[in-house]
Amino acid sequence: MANKKINKKNIAKLLGDWSKEFELFIPSKDEGIAKFAKWDGKDTSFLDWHRNTIVPPKAIFFPPVEEMFSFQKDKQSYHIELPSSDGQKQLIFGIRPYDANALTILDKTFKDTYEDPYYLPKRKNTVLVGLGCTKPYDSCFCTSLGGSPTDSANVDLMLTDIGDEFLVEGVTDKGRELMSMSSELEEATEADETRAKETKEATYQKVTRQLDTKDIEEKLLSSFEIQDLWEEIAAKCISCGICTLLCPTCYCFDINDELIKDRGTRFRSWDSCSFPVYTKMPMENPRIEKWRRVRNKVCHKYEFYPMNFDVIACTGCGRCVRQCPVNWDITQTLEKMQAKVQSG
Ligand code: SF4
Ligand code: SF4
Repeated sequence: MANKKINKKNIAKLLGDWSKEFELFIPSKDEGIAKFAKWDGKDTSFLDWHRNTIVPPKAIFFPPVEEMFSFQKDKQSYHIELPSSDGQKQLIFGIRPYDANALTILDKTFKDTYEDPYYLPKRKNTVLVGLGCTKPYDSCFCTSLGGSPTDSANVDLMLTDIGDEFLVEGVTDKGRELMSMSSELEEATEADETRAKETKEATYQKVTRQLDTKDIEEKLLSSFEIQDLWEEIAAKCISCGICTLLCPTCYCFDINDELIKDRGTRFRSWDSCSFPVYTKMPMENPRIEKWRRVRNKVCHKYEFYPMNFDVIACTGCGRCVRQCPVNWDITQTLEKMQAKVQSG
């Protein structure tokens, strides 16, 4: 199917057509925090932001707190009840290319290692409509990790800003099916295609932060025992965990039971390897010192994950740089580490 276009004024109508079949999520602001939320049937104000959400869309598939099951104690044992899954089809509108890429990285853990019964049904029932960035942050470095601000590789349908309109590109069969579900889309012209190409090239150039990732696994391995380097790198970190909780590829969770008399619920909730109490149960945290926790966070993304899955667990979204309260910076960290290894 040839590419199409849509006038920005008609986006609400397009979403309305899709909402007949899908539960729709769009970028939204909740008390000033930008995150993906269910569409209220009219809001398209996110089109004016030109910026990504603070909370990544992983929260739709892997919520901050999620019920695993409830249980009722009777005389003999426990009666377990699993949360109901209605199989509702979902559509995420406006996901950024690097956040769509992050989902493929999470899939390695939640799908390829074992089949997570909470994440996978949501992932399978969701179509992704990507929205290319036009104003990357100074902290973005997706191009250093093989991405691009307008990359369509991991979405079903891709929108590129061409002024008053978006060029709409069907990437997968699911995406092309979406295109046929709305009469709001018009045929794209050759001039539209040219404008989209120019936007993509120009936006790519706007990502100015660069990180050298050549041989990074080996360099991290070489730096592993250089304690004074990691102590220096970790010095200003206050172990708040924000960088990991908001990272689109981090997936650690804790499990807790809430019990009232004989009835209870088991939850899982986001956890962070930056916390001193991480993995406190059933044994002590093996990384009591902060520098060991910071080293683990960096190595997990740039050394251990590539060793296990052949992919770096960082998309260069820059959230950890933007949201850190003390300006700890993963790109500066990796540069410092590489300089130390190279200088011997
Ligand atoms: S956000 Fe900054 S201070 Fe908080 S844990 Fe991460 S690096 Fe440390
Ligand atoms: S480590 Fe930082 S830049 Fe990389 S994906 Fe996570 S939040 Fe984004």
